[in-house]
Amino acid sequence: MRLTCVECPMGCEIEVEVSDGKVLSVKGNTCPRGKAYAENEVICPRRVLTTSVRSADGKMVSVKTAFPIKKSETFAVMEKINKITVTAPVKIGQVVCENISEDINLIATSNLND
Ligand code: SF4
Repeated sequence: MRLTCVECPMGCEIEVEVSDGKVLSVKGNTCPRGKAYAENEVICPRRVLTTSVRSADGKMVSVKTAFPIKKSETFAVMEKINKITVTAPVKIGQVVCENISEDINLIATSNLND
């Protein structure tokens, strides 16, 4: 499997050899972050989820997961997020929901004033 590492702007082309769901070798990465990225990408890909939640008065607040979540959990996490309502004030960086997936929090990426 060929991947382009997205961990930094260098964008190294990485080749991963996989058999029976196990990583046999990783080539092309120029640092350990690339190896970890490639291993995770083929075994259990993860992404930061960015979206928005509604406030009690109908405004929207942008949010994201504080760390990447499993891609396979995206729909389940979105179902949880769609049930969340926030109340102003909300500050950037504020935890909107603890442990939205595993032990990862959902945090605000925009302010909502009173
Ligand atoms: S392998 Fe390392 S240097 Fe290359 S893109 Fe990934 S993080 Fe950057």
